[in-house]
Parts: sequence; structure tokens; C-alpha cells
Amino acid sequence: MSTQPGVEVIVHSTPQVDEGDHERFAHIVLEGYTPKDGEFVPLDNSVVDGMINATPVKALCGKVWVPGRDPQKYPLCPTCKEIAAAMGWSLPNG
Ligand SMILES: [Zn+2]
Repeated sequence: MSTQPGVEVIVHSTPQVDEGDHERFAHIVLEGYTPKDGEFVPLDNSVVDGMINATPVKALCGKVWVPGRDPQKYPLCPTCKEIAAAMGWSLPNG
């Protein structure tokens, strides 16, 4: 990924619950970003596609899993949150 801290980007992310974990967290899936003066850059990491095609998506923290249909309210994965904050991205609520 070529984004850098301090670069203003709009992050398209979707918190998704990893169904396989004991401790459940909503992980942040980065689906793409929009540079300040550019066009949306998709990262081929779409939660919707993952649900439809049963293909895995990758969270910021490196977790890879097939997204479920009914994400519920779980605390945001601390690692995902840390990475997003370090990159200067705005966080989804959680
Ligand atoms: Zn995570």
C-alpha cells in the first residue's frame, strides 16, 4: 500500500466480525481509498464480494477470513484500530 501517514485519504473500510475467533472483534477491512486529489483506488478487498463469492478478505491487522452476512456489534480489533490511527485514517465507529 502506498498511502503514507499524514496523507489525506478517505478510507473505505468495513468492520467485520471474524466468525472463527473465541474473542470476537470487528476487524477493519480496507476496501480502497481516495487520495485528496485523486480518484478512488480499490484494493480488490471487498467485503460485499467476499460475502457473495465466499472469498476471503484481509483486515488491517493481517487477519484473513470469509466475511459473514450479519455483522454484529463487537469491539473494534485493537490492532486494526492502532494501524488505522497510525496511518492517520478516520476510524469507523467502534
Ligand atoms: Zn484486526
